[in-house]
Amino acid sequence: MAKNRIAVIGGGAAGLAAAITAARLGADVTVLEHMERVGKKLLSTGNGRCNFTHEGVSPEHYFSDCPETLSSLLERYPTQRILDFMEEIGVVPVCRDGYYYPASNQAAAVADCLRAECAYQGVGIRVSCRVREIRPFKGGYLLSMEEKEEFFSRVILACGGQAAPFTGSDGNGYQLAAALGHRLVPVFPALTGLTAAGRELKGLAGVRAAARASLFVNGQFLAAHSGEVQFADGSLSGIVIFQLSHQAIGSLLQGKKTEIRLNFLPELSKKQAQAFLDARRDRLGHKPMEEWGIGLFPRKLWEQIRKNAGLEAGRLAGELTQEEMGRLYQAVAAFRVQIDGYFGFDRAQVTAGGVSLREVQADTLESGRMPGLYFAGEILHVDGLCGGYNLHWAFASGMAAGEAAALA
Ligand SMILES: Cc1cc2nc3c(=O)[nH]c(=O)nc-3n(C[C@H](O)[C@H](O)[C@H](O)COP(=O)(O)OP(=O)(O)OC[C@H]3O[C@@H](n4cnc5c(N)ncnc54)[C@H](O)[C@@H]3O)c2cc1C
Repeated sequence: MAKNRIAVIGGGAAGLAAAITAARLGADVTVLEHMERVGKKLLSTGNGRCNFTHEGVSPEHYFSDCPETLSSLLERYPTQRILDFMEEIGVVPVCRDGYYYPASNQAAAVADCLRAECAYQGVGIRVSCRVREIRPFKGGYLLSMEEKEEFFSRVILACGGQAAPFTGSDGNGYQLAAALGHRLVPVFPALTGLTAAGRELKGLAGVRAAARASLFVNGQFLAAHSGEVQFADGSLSGIVIFQLSHQAIGSLLQGKKTEIRLNFLPELSKKQAQAFLDARRDRLGHKPMEEWGIGLFPRKLWEQIRKNAGLEAGRLAGELTQEEMGRLYQAVAAFRVQIDGYFGFDRAQVTAGGVSLREVQADTLESGRMPGLYFAGEILHVDGLCGGYNLHWAFASGMAAGEAAALA
């Protein structure tokens, strides 16, 4: 019986990092991937450019059920560790506003370098190979694949979550973990768009606008992010909305009133914004209200802001009273959208929830229930904000699990 033979189930970012790390330490490693190639999801990351980490990665950028384990892993695998790993496999990192990408600007380059490094390190890669069952057997595990069973002394489960299932992560990894007694934290899509069936977004399809988006749950402020908001008939998206989506969807699932308030003058304080609007009214007082906001806001958006403020078309800006200017300010700085739903896993970048982080060892990511079974990547209940944090977690947890499995 082979000793220290490691199976990595799932050839995504986490699985490939785990395989490379374990093989470098002398282990006999095989990656089992059910798609026709490994690293499929990587190709679509960062709009095809792969934002693989961020400067200053820290626990505040993540959601999980075990902050202690998350913090200890991020401490051991900070940004520099991921940058070093990238350099070692041939990827030159380039930083833009804190976001790290490959110098080639191609996600495919990261996938290619990972695959090539696997080959240099002697990692076996089997594609079109779906693992259906994991059974404890004589100090290791018997894996059931298509038509055979095979023994491995250690197993790293890196099947990903449920987001973008067409890339291979269809959620079956959760069943594999649950069958071995692991507790699953209920999953939902995150880093995704939010829907609003009310009238607020009617006619705004195609609009893009810079805004500060604030999330209010049952009337209480929860979080805010600034950036470009993308409007569609009945939905909001764009990175700024994705950043709020975990908390927004979490609160919707708890039946709470969930509202996004958009401030379309995000750079200005309340006083500055009011002074700015007053000065514009004085300068362009001859314009009727339907024209007054054009040039400042996209036309369709201005139309909706004007209606929300209750300012009639035909009315001249110069005639607005202070009370009306107050309403206008509210409509510009707190454009309210009642959220009633969210996009599904097919349009989400990550999965919130998954295998409880509480049930793995903090230093090794080894199962607390099944010795010799390790977890890495999105299958665990860890999801991060947009900005390279999710791939950082995938690589960092993959390296940690790979090292531990090889040295155990
Ligand atoms: C469109 C999009 C853009 C993104 N952009 C970014 C970004 O720029 N920066 C960032 O940090 N994050 C980004 N993410 C998130 C990031 O890609 C994921 O968090 C990360 O890839 C997860 O890695 P993983 O290895 O855990 O899972 P995955 O990459 O999902 O890999 C899991 C693998 O396991 C395989 N598998 C599943 N079940 C089995 C089985 N039973 N047997 C064999 N194989 C199996 C799957 O086919 C898959 O290849 C993006 C995600 C999407 C969808």
